[in-house]
Amino acid sequence: MAFRYTATVSRRSGVPIERLTEPSRLVLWLAANDLDPGREATPTDLDRALHLREAIYRAGAAVARSLTPTEEDVRTINEAAAAGRPVPAWESGQDRWRLTGPDHLTDALAVIAHDAIRALGGAPARVKTCEGPDCAGLFLDTSRGGSRRWCSMNTCGNKAKKSRMR
Ligand SMILES: [Zn+2]
Repeated sequence: MAFRYTATVSRRSGVPIERLTEPSRLVLWLAANDLDPGREATPTDLDRALHLREAIYRAGAAVARSLTPTEEDVRTINEAAAAGRPVPAWESGQDRWRLTGPDHLTDALAVIAHDAIRALGGAPARVKTCEGPDCAGLFLDTSRGGSRRWCSMNTCGNKAKKSRMR
């Protein structure tokens, strides 16, 4: 979830493409990821959400290189996690988040921050940046040997294979 969120900027090591170009796109992304904020977002919300996203990306890229993330990025992530009141719920056999605070957008960002903490703090050795051309996207390598190199076999993995064949 958190790394999927950082992928709303693609081609990070080339000419980056920003997908969250306006507040309404943030709301659409959250809703598509089962975190419907139930209200419109303001430009300030978008700033806050992008600030969190880039803190997660920088911290993840640092962890992927066995470096220590900056205190500021860690603080940004921890504060976002503490600001909301999402509650885990088991519904229809699935794990979900119930957004129960006074502001569901803050709750939604807290879920993303929570997920980032679990990935970066819980499985740092598995955090990697994609080796695909121009990508540098973050992913969690859950393969048994820990030898995955691309965020996705369908996109970056295929591109790398094709360019090797040429
Ligand atoms: Zn990639």
